[in-house]
Amino acid sequence: MEIITTDQDLTQAGFYWRDADGVRALVCGPLEDDGFVNGFSTRLGGVSDMPRDSLSLAGFNDDKAENILENRRRFLKLFPGTWSLAGCWQVHGADIRVVEKIEDAKPAENELGDTIYCDAILSAADGVLAGVKTADCVPLLIGDPKTGAFAAVHAGWRGTLAEIGVVAVRRLVNEYNVQPENLRVAIGASAGPCCYEVGNDVIDAFTQKFPNAEKLFAPTREGHALIDLLKSNQDQLIAAGVRPDRIHTAPICTMCRTDLFFSYRREKSVNGNVGRLMAVIGRL
Ligand SMILES: [Zn+2]
Repeated sequence: MEIITTDQDLTQAGFYWRDADGVRALVCGPLEDDGFVNGFSTRLGGVSDMPRDSLSLAGFNDDKAENILENRRRFLKLFPGTWSLAGCWQVHGADIRVVEKIEDAKPAENELGDTIYCDAILSAADGVLAGVKTADCVPLLIGDPKTGAFAAVHAGWRGTLAEIGVVAVRRLVNEYNVQPENLRVAIGASAGPCCYEVGNDVIDAFTQKFPNAEKLFAPTREGHALIDLLKSNQDQLIAAGVRPDRIHTAPICTMCRTDLFFSYRREKSVNGNVGRLMAVIGRL
């Protein structure tokens, strides 16, 4: 079932498109109003052959480094100012990297094979743009208007099961003394409950961990169900003290909308190489 998202749906959810020179990103307005540069990339406006003019921002196994670096340069032009991108080599875990100063900011996955293994980046430093890459997984951007601390989080089903959003909130509390009720969270495009089918291994793991897990699943064929990772992440954040009205979820699915986004699940078996999206946040 394909879900059609209109610009009105996006506006109601707190998001708008930012376009420049053919490059397009989804921006969360309330997070921006709280003092945070933020954006979720699309596949539009790049130089990668996926199939053409695609903005793949990571994944050096699937694309040439020169393409990815040019695409990053184009993407960062959407955000006025000078930024140092801070990323990590994502491993579907719940480890977090804290970037204390701009000198420590670097994209952990780069052409040099630099590796910092984690799935969330925290910082409060000016000029640091924390970024996570996705292609179906759930990207969470978190900002605290009181302290200026922020986080970019990558939550696939494994990260969601490991409650990486909650781990990130707790770390923000410990590192920067944030109050969870002040946090603003933007959840970007990801594989939605309309499309993301999983098997019994995932269903069992969630059912064992979360008491109300059955509401996350809609059964399909024998041994399979559609999973709602967005709801799981929302529920976890609310349980960690984030106010529901301060969580903004983009109502748009990467698997439905491969015209706009990369989808590992839709494209890997068809095209072989899949591009990567990026979600970024920094202090205005
Ligand atoms: Zn979908």
